[in-house]
Amino acid sequence: MDQSVGEFGIRSIPASSCCIQLEGVLGSKVSFPGTPSYETTQNSYWSIQEASLNPSCIFVPDSSQDVSVAVEILSGMPDCQFAVKGHSHMPAAGFANINGGITIDMTALSSITINDDHTVVSIGSGAAWLDVYTYLDALGLSVAGGRNGAVGVGGLTLGGGISYFAPRVGWACDNVANFEIVLASGKLVNANASSLPDLFRGLKGGMNNFGIITRFDLTTFAQGALLAGNIVNSISDRDAVFRAFSNIAGAKEYDPYASLVTSLSYNSSIDESWGISTSLAYTKPETNPPVYDELLAIPSTLNTLHITNLSTIANEGNTPPLNWLFYTATFGVSTNLMGQIFDSLNSTIPEFELPGSWVFWDIAFEPLPTIMTQYGDKNGGNSLGISPVHGNVFVVLISALWPDSAFNKVVEQTAGKITEDIIRVGNEQGLLSEFQYINYADPSQNPIAGYGAENVEFLMNLSRKYDPSGIWQRQVPGGFKLRSKY
Ligand SMILES: Cc1cc2nc3c(=O)[nH]c(=O)nc-3n(C[C@H](O)[C@H](O)[C@H](O)COP(=O)(O)OP(=O)(O)OC[C@H]3O[C@@H](n4cnc5c(N)ncnc54)[C@H](O)[C@@H]3O)c2cc1C
Repeated sequence: MDQSVGEFGIRSIPASSCCIQLEGVLGSKVSFPGTPSYETTQNSYWSIQEASLNPSCIFVPDSSQDVSVAVEILSGMPDCQFAVKGHSHMPAAGFANINGGITIDMTALSSITINDDHTVVSIGSGAAWLDVYTYLDALGLSVAGGRNGAVGVGGLTLGGGISYFAPRVGWACDNVANFEIVLASGKLVNANASSLPDLFRGLKGGMNNFGIITRFDLTTFAQGALLAGNIVNSISDRDAVFRAFSNIAGAKEYDPYASLVTSLSYNSSIDESWGISTSLAYTKPETNPPVYDELLAIPSTLNTLHITNLSTIANEGNTPPLNWLFYTATFGVSTNLMGQIFDSLNSTIPEFELPGSWVFWDIAFEPLPTIMTQYGDKNGGNSLGISPVHGNVFVVLISALWPDSAFNKVVEQTAGKITEDIIRVGNEQGLLSEFQYINYADPSQNPIAGYGAENVEFLMNLSRKYDPSGIWQRQVPGGFKLRSKY
């Protein structure tokens, strides 16, 4: 089949005519290459891969109505392709930018307001989590959101969202009270537990397959100071760290205030450079919570644990422009498996060098305890397909970052092989889960299939119902798509 013709038999036309139509109605909110507004968006991408794409124009809406008008225009021009951008923390090219199409940059829609009784905060979908925490910290409140404040509310929430509060309240998406969304028709609607409840569930895991979210209404909870910081151990103590991690992550009675990410890291420009560290939080102002006794008894070379607040720890600052990739897999909690994963990584990563340049690897282990996944069928349910029947599991996030784009292919191939290897190791141990966290997945992975057959069928039917002509599949090619794969 002609590759330029998609599932829906549509052929691309020059995007400039799409941009001119859009500009005719939306005026200066549509910008073109070489203008300051266009360059501001292009310079804001987190990964070089995304920043390297060149849309024909960029549309920056400043109201939900703007988004509605744009989608109505674009849906009437089936040859016009577009991308939806939040804070662009999905590194893969094309997820939130597009060559020769229209990029809709949502970041100007970032207002934050709270209802009278302070139970629900309404957040423009283009906000970053730091904006949200800064607003809520002052009120003694919080919500479940990204740990790094630069990440966007949009992508993180639509893909699930692991927060420091996950064991207390579930995924970030489990805490959505209402989505305001522009559907394929351009219509602006609300999806919540009583209005469009099927769409409400589908959006919790559905990414950009159903529309453009313009506002998230999130349920708040009381939150003051918390304990947070990093612990760095010697790599020679890794087995003790893996044991301590597994004892916390696999506990029958998981401590709901405990949140930790243990990471292995390797810098190719330094010999013998494996590192191991754990980012810890305890979401109460307790200086010595017993849950961390075993981990803290291991000799550390750095311990920055201190009482702080969310907006302070989420303010991690910007990284310089780099190429990035993510791959992921999920496993049942096991100290032995963590050791075998290290051995597998150690058989590939140290030998992999980029002549005259470098690559930095980070392999993070993050608990998904049943105390968290139990929220998946509350508040109207989510579509992620992971529940307490899977037991206490942990997600592995394999990230690589490197400056020289000439090495993209070889780093991507190596990361793919590393992931395959650890998936094989986990499978041999009977600990591999089919769940792959969509916000950590590489485009070559198929995280929606990991939601399970029933959820996939539910989402497919939802797509046919709310998007009969497949606009979000055909005209928005970036991201994990439902109907192109099934
Ligand atoms: C440094 C860093 C820290 C991270 N920390 C965490 C963490 O603590 N917890 C966690 O769970 N994940 C975390 N992530 C992963 C993160 O959840 C994903 O990268 C997420 O998709 C980023 O959302 P974004 O809006 O910034 O990204 P974008 O790349 O802008 O968007 C991601 C996808 O969502 C779609 N999208 C965005 N906004 C909308 C919208 N309004 N309507 C429809 N579709 C939309 C886009 O089209 C795109 O396909 C982190 C990532 C990075 C790089």
